[in-house]
Amino acid sequence: MEAIAPNLEGVNRYSLESPSRNGAAIHGRLRRACRRAWPLLALLLTACASAPQPTHNPLATWTPSPNYNERKAILIVVHYTEQESVEHSLRTLSNADSKNPVSSHYLIGADGRIYQLVDDGARAWHAGIGRWGTITDVNSASIGIELDNNGSTPFASAQIDSLLRLLADLTDRLNIPRTQVVGHEDIAPTRKSDPGPRFPWKQLADAGFGRWPRGDLVTPPAQFDAWAALAVIGYALDDRNAAVKAFHHHYRGIEGSKLDDTDRRILYALTRR
Ligand SMILES: [Zn+2]
Repeated sequence: MEAIAPNLEGVNRYSLESPSRNGAAIHGRLRRACRRAWPLLALLLTACASAPQPTHNPLATWTPSPNYNERKAILIVVHYTEQESVEHSLRTLSNADSKNPVSSHYLIGADGRIYQLVDDGARAWHAGIGRWGTITDVNSASIGIELDNNGSTPFASAQIDSLLRLLADLTDRLNIPRTQVVGHEDIAPTRKSDPGPRFPWKQLADAGFGRWPRGDLVTPPAQFDAWAALAVIGYALDDRNAAVKAFHHHYRGIEGSKLDDTDRRILYALTRR
């Protein structure tokens, strides 16, 4: 999660206040005003906590149409908490008074219990700065799933079983393509290492989630551009070593930041038709 990254102090605050800076700032002032009014306005605080963002543009005449629904996520981002317990993570992910407030839609314990902290239709603060393909505001486009794991131990089988059930539910119910399941390090390779090389991406792929090379790996033709393939999959190439490191974690469960022939074969399998 973002809370453990010192360089992210303020990132989510920035996300809160921009680009919809006006609406978020008004919302923030409302919340601060509500806090000052406590305890006399306890009921009002409840109302403020769930106050919707202003939606009517004063530049336009409001002539409402009934033909709309909630915008839906198109990507699922998997994290580990890098903390020692579910209880600790629930506190971190729910702390509105933190200097760097963070959240995720879901948290899954090592015992397989699934907690939901944010509505599927709302924007949780789990991704921070990152990019996947053309998606540049990942929080706005994604569902975040945190796994209770400290980053140095294997993921519990009960936890992965629950994750697979949750992915089936989310992709079906929200109509998110099953290929659109990635790790935090995939979308933020210069800053993040979760869910790391221990995460069982192959097991997810066998269940139909994420992208995985099919068939035998073969040597690509000479004109094959592995970097272009990496970008086509979704990786940002601002820092190529970081992108390869994340790719290695995801597809090979290894460390290393140099693109090699095995990577080229995997990338060819991932992108050829
Ligand atoms: Zn993360």
